[in-house]
Amino acid sequence: MIVVMRPDATKQEVQHVVKLIKEMELKDHVIEGTDLTVIAVIGDDRKKDGSVLEGAPGVDRVMKVLAPYKMAAKETRSGKKTLIDIGGGCVFGGKQVPVIAGPCSVEDEEKIMVAARAVKAAGAHALRGGAFKPRTNPYAFQGHGEDGLKMLAAARAETGLPIVTEVLTPSEVEMVSEYADCLQIGTRNSQNYKLLEACGNQPKPVLYKRGMSMTLDEWLQAAEYILAAGNPNVILCERGIRTFEDHTRNTLSLSVVPELQFRTHLPIVIDPSHGTGHARLVPSMAKAAIAAGCDGLAIEMHQDPQHAMTDGAQSITPEVLTELMGQLQRVAEAVDKECIPGAAAAV
Ligand code: PEP
Ligand code: MN
Repeated sequence: MIVVMRPDATKQEVQHVVKLIKEMELKDHVIEGTDLTVIAVIGDDRKKDGSVLEGAPGVDRVMKVLAPYKMAAKETRSGKKTLIDIGGGCVFGGKQVPVIAGPCSVEDEEKIMVAARAVKAAGAHALRGGAFKPRTNPYAFQGHGEDGLKMLAAARAETGLPIVTEVLTPSEVEMVSEYADCLQIGTRNSQNYKLLEACGNQPKPVLYKRGMSMTLDEWLQAAEYILAAGNPNVILCERGIRTFEDHTRNTLSLSVVPELQFRTHLPIVIDPSHGTGHARLVPSMAKAAIAAGCDGLAIEMHQDPQHAMTDGAQSITPEVLTELMGQLQRVAEAVDKECIPGAAAAV
């Protein structure tokens, strides 16, 4: 922390701040400038409450210097990215940019199998599908629960694609973890800290979506809950945020990609489906995301979007996915990455 004193602060006020810093078991370094005095606080102040100093007489403002997220911060791994292998050769954080594709929800045994075959044939690298659906409306389809997980497991058995599926409550984490290769935490649960901790306490990687009104700092601090609970395999997923803009379902903030690459070692996945809400916008934003340097994509695909039970409007068809995979490969090459359809990661 840096404490900036007011220009008219007295020597006694400076001394009082120094005393408060010492009481916090931190060290002080007073720098007297020509116009004002600043005090550098030395030591790990992340667990200290800076507002104590902010309220002291003569203090103008207190600035945090250390990132409040210790384990997620890039420095923690000396700038090295974390590689996260969700199975089936699908690795996030390396040279290859994997694509997770599949329907919004698992609708029935046959449909998820047809979708899985299409995902595989298009060359995407993992299968998504919600068995537990977090719906805005309580009367809307809530998913098939454990039966849906079994359907996903059957699709994995046939295609070899690892499965990514959402978990809604801490009490269901163990069960979902038994079936899934990667657990998804959705935007509506992004600050459900008990769920984050529970996902931190199980062995499978986590695809952790940004809250729709979360700042980057809040997102990384929340990711820290999963890391601090013991699970190092956290993949961040930007899925769009709420803004005044209404031509899209959400505003897909692609500038988080380079910013997160700067701040954290965790892989970053972009979801252009929830990020736009319109299938026609998905291919462009998927290509833009790879151009921006993302480590993976999560895309909703449905063989019959007009009859999809959830999120049909933003689901691309297998034909569009197949064409897109070829384009993604070319964009990836332009930014020294790979997005090879059907390929296991070369990291
Ligand atoms: C989903 O992936 O289908 C989903 C519900 O996503 P989000 O949490 O981003 O809305
Ligand atoms: Mn969806």
